[in-house]
Amino acid sequence: MKTLADLLAEGVAGRRVLVRADLNVPLDGETITDDGRVRASLPTIRQLTGAGARVVIAAHLGRPKGAPEPKYSLAPVARRLGELLGTPVKLAADVVGASARSTVDSLADGEVALLENIRFDARETSKDEAERGALADELAALATVFVSDGFGVVHRKQASVYDVAKRLPHYAGGLVLAEVEVLRKLTEDPARPYVVVLGGAKVSDKLGVIANLLTKVDRLLIGGGMAYTFLKAQGHEVGNSLLQEDQLEQVSGFLAEAEKRGVELVLPVDVLAATGFAPDAEFEVVKADAIPADREGLDIGPETRELFAAKLADAATVFWNGPMGVFEFEAFSGGTRAVAQALVDGDSFSVVGGGDSAAAVRQLGLPEDGFSHISTGGGASLEFLEGKELPGVTVLED
Ligand code: ADP
Ligand code: MG
Repeated sequence: MKTLADLLAEGVAGRRVLVRADLNVPLDGETITDDGRVRASLPTIRQLTGAGARVVIAAHLGRPKGAPEPKYSLAPVARRLGELLGTPVKLAADVVGASARSTVDSLADGEVALLENIRFDARETSKDEAERGALADELAALATVFVSDGFGVVHRKQASVYDVAKRLPHYAGGLVLAEVEVLRKLTEDPARPYVVVLGGAKVSDKLGVIANLLTKVDRLLIGGGMAYTFLKAQGHEVGNSLLQEDQLEQVSGFLAEAEKRGVELVLPVDVLAATGFAPDAEFEVVKADAIPADREGLDIGPETRELFAAKLADAATVFWNGPMGVFEFEAFSGGTRAVAQALVDGDSFSVVGGGDSAAAVRQLGLPEDGFSHISTGGGASLEFLEGKELPGVTVLED
């Protein structure tokens, strides 16, 4: 796999370099509420502009349905990126149309253009290879080399991620390279004990990764919304808590599998049981096997926080994906904070994966350098840990 360093060694002054970045930030209207992904994309862009390249960035934002939608415009991202780079970023009004072409043509050495939301073009995510290929052709015509740096999308076979790499000399950007190296460390011979903490809303999102991790880890701690399907599978009442009834059988299988393999599977022993899903909902601490039928668990309880911290204390390697509770509500953010703090306090090789988990770390004001690595790609890191091939990485290898 050729890397950014190889490209810089070849020389990029005056060349047009197409960079696929992951700039999919959370927005409140036009305000970026967490610019972590924009910041993460800076090093690669800066190295290219510093070497005199004309940088053309392709990126997506949200889930537009294959046509322009003003609320998904990359305009706020272009502004923020310009502020952080200290130089204006020229935003094209379209993806690969007349505006994109003239914006790219107007670039001087060391300047940056951003194409409008790549998902405004339905061909980006098409299942039809010829359709994706037609968009990739138009993207490829805008540049002479391709740098893949959007780690959050490398698990997607999309025009700007996969097909364009088939059409231009291609290089792994600094971010993609760093992420892949960290994940390889987790999958190839991790230092033990290797402990994984999983949370978040849906078990169904994480079935594949749980199945695979059961063959690799020493301990699996489960919190967040997905814990209730496990508690239910053990025969407990979970009230109005998040529950995926259709996953019960699979989850029972995981419980049995963990036991058979000698993997320590740790579930919450107490929860904050609230009267409803609201920031100011009343709540009480109850045992995990005694959740009242009219309550819903919105966070792990104090005893569980201590238990999880103790189970993390002697870990040599930790991967954490998914908040332990509804951290967006201050009253239910304590469990997520406790796990994050345990990682900061420990001296394990610690990796945080998942958009919401990374956002939680920043939102709760924890020091980002307290973790060995905060991944920018939730889905991509999970698929890697599931043992799946990442098309956007594989395509860079040949
Ligand atoms: P990530 O993006 O880090 O992979 P997920 O998307 O899987 O994480 O899950 C994050 C969401 O899970 C958060 O919005 C959080 O509010 C929600 N969540 C966590 N615990 C609970 C719970 N007990 N009940 C409902 N939602 C929960
Ligand atoms: Mg998420």
